[in-house]
This record gives sequence, C-alpha cells and structure tokens, in this order.
Amino acid sequence: MLTPNMNYSHLKNSYLFYNIAQKTKDHLSAHPDTHLYRMGIGDVSLPLCDAVIKGLHTAADDQANASTFNGYMPECGAEFLRKAVAEYYQGRGVELADDEVFISSGASDELGDILDIFDRSNRSLIIEPAYPAYVDANVMSGREIVHMPSSRENGFLPLPDENTDAELIYLCSPNNPTGAVFDREQLKKWVDYANAHGSVILFDAAYEAFIEDDALPHSIFEIEGARTCAVEICSLSKTAGFTGTRLGYTVIPKELVRCGMRFNDMWVRNRTTKTNGVSYIIQRAAAEVFTPEGQRQIHENIAIYKNNARTLMQALDSLGIWYTGGRNAPYIWLECPNGMGSWEFFDLLLNKAQIIGTPGEGFGKCGEGYFRFSTFGSPEDTRIAAERLIELLK
Ligand code: PLP
Repeated sequence: MLTPNMNYSHLKNSYLFYNIAQKTKDHLSAHPDTHLYRMGIGDVSLPLCDAVIKGLHTAADDQANASTFNGYMPECGAEFLRKAVAEYYQGRGVELADDEVFISSGASDELGDILDIFDRSNRSLIIEPAYPAYVDANVMSGREIVHMPSSRENGFLPLPDENTDAELIYLCSPNNPTGAVFDREQLKKWVDYANAHGSVILFDAAYEAFIEDDALPHSIFEIEGARTCAVEICSLSKTAGFTGTRLGYTVIPKELVRCGMRFNDMWVRNRTTKTNGVSYIIQRAAAEVFTPEGQRQIHENIAIYKNNARTLMQALDSLGIWYTGGRNAPYIWLECPNGMGSWEFFDLLLNKAQIIGTPGEGFGKCGEGYFRFSTFGSPEDTRIAAERLIELLK
C-alpha cells in the first residue's frame, strides 16, 4: 500500500490566521455595519507602480508577435533580469555574477524548495518568533528543528553562542514578525559561526527595501565571508507590490561548496529539472523595478507604508508601550500593555476599537505577550486606528 509523507502528520494546525478570520467574521455578523481597521495581514494595499504596469503591457504585446514572442523561458531566469538584479546588488557594493542570481516566482516557494539541496540529516535553526513557513517547510521534509527563542532582552536579534548547534540557519532581516534588523557586527557573528561550523545561512531578505538606516545591511553578502556560507532569498512581493504578480530571486554564490558539491550547480540542476522558468511577462515587468524610474516609484509606495509606521509608532510612544520594528520594516512588534496575553489584547482591540492585529503567540511560544501591527493598510485607516489606540489605552 502507498505510504503518504507521514511528516505531514507532524504539522501543527495553523490556528493563527484561521482564528483571526473566525473572530473577525463573528464580530462582523454581530455588528454588520462596523468598519474594521485591518492591520493584521502582511499583504500590500497599493497597486503596482506605473513603470511595472507599462512593462506588463509591453510584454503582453511582445507575446502577440512571432518576432518578439517568447516560449519557455530559461529555468534559472531571463538573462536580462538576472543581470538587472546583479546590478542592483552592485549598487550597494556587492559583486555577483549574473548566474549567481536565480529568478523565482517568490520567496515562499524558494524557502521550501531550497531544502532539496541539503541532506535531510541537517538540523535547521529557526529563530522564534518566526515566519511560520520556515517551521512548516522543515516539518514537511522531516527535518529536525532547533528552536532558538528571542526576546525583548536581545532586541529579538539573538546571536550564536556556545550552545548553538545547527547545519542550516534561517535568518530573516528585517524580520517578520518583529521588524528587528541585524546590524553588520551581529550578522558577522552569524557568518563567522557558519563558516567555522560548515553551516549554511538561509538569509531571507524579503523586506530589505524597507531599510532606511544607511548603516544597516540589506544583504548578507555585504558581510565579509558570507560568500562561503550563505544563500539569500528575496522577493518583490513587499518591495514592489508583487504579492499577486509573483516574482522573487535567490542568490547562491559559486564559492558555497560542501563535501566537494557546489550548491550553485546543484540549484541549476534542481531548477532545470523541477521548473520551466517564470513567465516572460512577469520577468519583463519585474525588470522595470530595477530601473531608476522603477526604483523611484516603488520607493514612493514604500514611503506611504513608512508613514503609516510612523503614525503608529507615535501613538505607541505617546502611550509608553515598548515596541521594535517600524523604522526599517513594515511591521511593528509591541509588548501587549498591562501584561495582557496576545489573544486577550487581540480581543480587546477588536471589540473596543475595531482594530485587527496579529497576536504574537501565533509566531511561536516566545511571541506570547506581544502583538504585530502591519503597516500595509491605507493611511486613512492607520491614522484613525492610531487615534483609537490612544483613546482606548491612554
Ligand atoms: N519571507 C518572509 C519573511 C515573508 O514575510 C514573506 C511573506 O509574507 C515571504 C518570505 C514570502 O514572500 P513571497 O510573497 O515572495 O512568497
């Protein structure tokens, strides 16, 4: 008889977004005319910028003519886009060969798929609270997870110590859910650990475009030594509003080698076997993001989300509530006031202020007592939500 992948039976049910949806639905059926201030989910609200829309139209027209039509795209990405991404890195002093950049249809896909090139016996270190897909992808593939809790004491940015022991290390900076960002010295400690132990860092840079402090690194490859120990996974989802359009990229340096196996070559083999590339139309549109005009336009949108963050941070400051994130990330991670639990605070905000956020406990046990606000909502809703917060908690 066929045996299913029994690892799936070890997955914990994800109550987080289900519970939020259920509680929201119940609230709306009891109060049908209420407007809810939604600062829960991490999806963008602004449309694609003009440069990308023009790129989409032009590329669609290309597909209408035999002379410009594209069939299968190269599995690892179109040359024009790999080059555009490499040049983007060069802009901040990181030299990459075009074929060290792999185009994907998003970071989520890559975060799970990349596990294919690492032996199942490797243990995966996951800093918690964490983006839930890290844990689930590892459980599905039957890997041992080393949970590394973080806390307010270390600013939710833990560093390796004498007890750290794992072959694969997930780092997410700027972080979802905490919005915390590793500085250069902190990342160097992780890079040194990985090189000393032969580990590999999977660096999730999905929110790099939100960094505004010049001193903070956008990429792990800004850190000396990272080329021999890191893979970087990035996405245009939040950078350029591609959550529904889908495009990401993964960087695997050629110096990343273990047991004589080069991970870049392995990933070429993997992609050429398991994918047929990302749509021409989407890749063309994505290339517009990396033009000077595209960069200007996406940063106009990011500035709107950053303003939302400032509005909420001012409210929290005035209430004396501790938080991290917001400045270099689209998330604000706050301590629930008066020692409240995450879900208790969720209920209070929903029932008394019609605000929806995300209970920290949903991102791992050490998130209990914390709460995440996403800043991807409309400025108007965010402004009113901030006023309501102050009114409720002052
Ligand atoms: N990584 C982090 C930390 C995220 O928060 C998200 C999405 O919310 C992703 C990856 C997934 O991004 P994508 O839309 O490219 O799959």
